[in-house]
Amino acid sequence: MTLVIKIGGAAGVATESILNDLAHYRSMPEADRRLVLVHGGSDLTNELAGELGREIRTLTSPGGMTSRYTDRETLRIYAMAVAGQINTELVAQLQQHDINALGLAGVDGRLLLARRKSAIRALTPDGRMRIVRDDYTGQIEQVNVHLLNMLLDAGYLPVVAPLALGHEGERLNVDGDRAAAAIACALGADELVIATNVPGLLRDPSDSSTLIHQIEAERLDEYTIYAQGRMCKKLLGAREALAGGVRRIRIGNAPLTALLRGEGTTISAAEVGRNLEVAIAAVAGGRE
Ligand code: ADP
Repeated sequence: MTLVIKIGGAAGVATESILNDLAHYRSMPEADRRLVLVHGGSDLTNELAGELGREIRTLTSPGGMTSRYTDRETLRIYAMAVAGQINTELVAQLQQHDINALGLAGVDGRLLLARRKSAIRALTPDGRMRIVRDDYTGQIEQVNVHLLNMLLDAGYLPVVAPLALGHEGERLNVDGDRAAAAIACALGADELVIATNVPGLLRDPSDSSTLIHQIEAERLDEYTIYAQGRMCKKLLGAREALAGGVRRIRIGNAPLTALLRGEGTTISAAEVGRNLEVAIAAVAGGRE
């Protein structure tokens, strides 16, 4: 069994308690030993950018998807935040829990290869649709699964910073949720857990009592209307993970063990499997 966990980078993500819980989970006899952690870095990047006097800018695609406008200078700040600070901090914290974590940015060992579009059409911060040529964001095309398997087989817990290697050897900003989904697909993971700062997908983002507990994979599109901003990326990651064979995606801010038990939002292909099993059992029963 393989489990991929994404820890969000926004304020309010209870990282310390997630790591404590991860250590507890690893000590359970039935726990998955093959674990990969992927993390974000949105808040720290914003904080560092602010300290360095850089404006935080967002690009909106013609389809309405938003992403950080990552010009060269912002990429430097992003790399400092995710690979320099957050990754090393998580690894050190896991080591404190006696978990042999090993930090990697996606560029290490060609772990994540991505494509950068040299020109994209986007709504810029000044509200105009224009061609942007200096954005260093990438779409993941390949995961070095051999490297991950080597580390997992040797007993390490890989901790991955969402930076990928581009076709021209450049570093690229990649979305953490989608990076986690790509890794989960490549590893043939059973589940992808997206730990964030909200209880899950909410019908009303300002009201945590509107949590959607369960979504069947084939009905996921009906629920995308509820997602705004960054939640869209999580659902996109979930869709990519399902398409790549991951059977269950959990989104929420509960302890890991609680998320695995179904707290938060579970997007699941399991119903298909279960319905199929029921159908097969019924056919088999009919024949008897
Ligand atoms: P992370 O850093 O964990 O990746 P983000 O802040 O990027 O988290 O994404 C989660 C955010 O998505 C929430 O803080 C919330 O503001 C926003 N959001 C938008 N729509 C929804 C929704 N329907 N349900 C829950 N959260 C939503």
